[in-house]
Amino acid sequence: MLQRNYSLMRDLDKSLLGVRQQNEQRCEQEIEDIRRGIESGSITPDASLIRFSDEALDEQKHCIRIADEKVTLAIQAYDMVDAHIQQLDQYMRKLEELRQERELAAGADNAAGVSNTDANTRSGRATESGRGGRKKSRLAAEPPGVELELPVDPNEPTYCICNQVSFGKMVACDNANCKIEWFHFDCVGLKEQPKGKWYCPNCVGMQKRRKGK
Ligand SMILES: [Zn+2]
Ligand SMILES: [Zn+2]
Repeated sequence: MLQRNYSLMRDLDKSLLGVRQQNEQRCEQEIEDIRRGIESGSITPDASLIRFSDEALDEQKHCIRIADEKVTLAIQAYDMVDAHIQQLDQYMRKLEELRQERELAAGADNAAGVSNTDANTRSGRATESGRGGRKKSRLAAEPPGVELELPVDPNEPTYCICNQVSFGKMVACDNANCKIEWFHFDCVGLKEQPKGKWYCPNCVGMQKRRKGK
């Protein structure tokens, strides 16, 4: 569905480019014609008479229609991605709950396992230092349950002073050179979108310093 949406957008992009180029050429041609007409005196330079042909105007309207369609598609795509993310978030929460349950259930087993691996690493280190670094029982020292960790998508960009991915309401810093740019409402103590300019905690100081000079 999303793929179809994207390919539709690409197609629209292509046809829009074509129509726009055609329109630009036509307009240039018409401007050129009018200029020549004025120079030769066959057209009076009356502003009300000098206008683009209906074809050119229609083409421009067509361009706008295509652009509008693209915007609609983009909004659709955005909503789809948003819904998908919300679904994923729900899955993540469920998985996290499941993980915690499982950890609780395996609590006793794990305690025994951990002390075992502890002993393993210690004895491993002892042989290493004692006999000049013979590597032994390293793999056995892997802590159990590592693969159950759910890492945040490393490709998802992080924002805010908390360096987390974007969620909930976000506010943008009005300093064009802000290193972070976007902040969670909660992290900067906001309840609603601030009116007028807003600077993040990092940039508020810089702004004052600049004024002070
Ligand atoms: Zn934050
Ligand atoms: Zn800032």
